[in-house]
Amino acid sequence: MEQYEKIHQLYHLIETGTVADLPGPYKVGVDLGTADVVLVVTDSHGNPVAGSMRWASVVKDGLVVDFRGATMIVEELKAEVEELMGITLDQGATAIPPGTVGRNAQACGHVIAGAGLEPICQIDEPVAAAKALNINHGIVVDIGGGTTGIAVLKHGDLIFTADEATGGTHITLTIAGAYKITVEEAEILKKDVSQHRRILPVILPVIEKMATIVKQMLAGQDEYQDYPVYVVGGTATFSGFGEEFSKAFGREVHVPPHPLLITPLGIAMFG
Ligand code: ATP
Repeated sequence: MEQYEKIHQLYHLIETGTVADLPGPYKVGVDLGTADVVLVVTDSHGNPVAGSMRWASVVKDGLVVDFRGATMIVEELKAEVEELMGITLDQGATAIPPGTVGRNAQACGHVIAGAGLEPICQIDEPVAAAKALNINHGIVVDIGGGTTGIAVLKHGDLIFTADEATGGTHITLTIAGAYKITVEEAEILKKDVSQHRRILPVILPVIEKMATIVKQMLAGQDEYQDYPVYVVGGTATFSGFGEEFSKAFGREVHVPPHPLLITPLGIAMFG
């Protein structure tokens, strides 16, 4: 299966709550994000088999802040997928934003262990995204709920990562401020595709700030000038995000389909 086909397939499986009829052994990945938690199962070739997700606020800026809540959600997602597949899942991979260290880095593994999944590896989120896109040369920019992370890959080697606490949450706050509505209402408005054209001018300064952050992360690295740039993460779902980011960044960027699912799929591929 082609990479984009895999992403469309995963989206379909999650939306319909169905399972792809593919033989095991299976790999499991859990993405504990600022805005959502996603559990994905693939076959040994990385083809999506099943998945489930929940919007949740158990992580802030890449750090687990509600350990009990996070564990319960992973338990629920695991139980849902196990029922769909008719098997027990016992191991899984997790990911963290680049630069997360110490106890914060260990927290994701503890969460999935608490939910009954033995943590077998933990990777950097943009590295997982690169795996899902099958990229071994290029720049992956991951703009999630709370963070913007980048990974630069050169002929298969990860040569640079960086992360900064700016993401979709900041877009939501800007919408709330501009329209004088609550953050919850702003989040709903932001995810309403029919409103995106109207909202775009309001959030443009935040998109430009995100592009500036990535530019600064890459400052002085002229070697990466001709590397292809891929933007993933739920924030890139916003209609027109890729075009506006490209303009502010000064280079063309590629936004794959269902950008929110790229990192979770990649994590499972490491599982
Ligand atoms: P992080 O990686 O920062 O810890 P995360 O893994 O939760 O966070 P993602 O799941 O990649 O991040 O993306 C979540 C963000 O995507 C949220 O801010 C959410 O509001 C935004 N988002 C999701 N769907 C849409 C949509 N249709 N339009 C605009 N934004 C969206």
